[in-house]
Amino acid sequence: MSEKGICKGCVESVIVTEEVIQELVKETEEDLSVIVSDVVYKARLTICKNCPSLQYGTTCAHSGCIVRFRAKFKNKGCPFAGNPKWDKVS
Ligand code: SF4
Repeated sequence: MSEKGICKGCVESVIVTEEVIQELVKETEEDLSVIVSDVVYKARLTICKNCPSLQYGTTCAHSGCIVRFRAKFKNKGCPFAGNPKWDKVS
């Protein structure tokens, strides 16, 4: 697969370093119009932290996304089928 079209939050390995996560999170802050407030971000991460679907402390089992990346975006919701634990922000 070419690199074009690969979601930045879905890296090749589901186990990633703290450095990679920090780079991903930093990139989200290049366009503040698409990311949620710090309050919403922290609330989302608290939910993820207590969710049994969180793998390796970093990755959602339902989407394969690094939650610290995914949770930054207004247009992303929790992918838990039938019972999302946090919603998109309009
Ligand atoms: S995104 Fe949803 S399902 Fe995935 S770890 Fe967070 S709360 Fe759990």
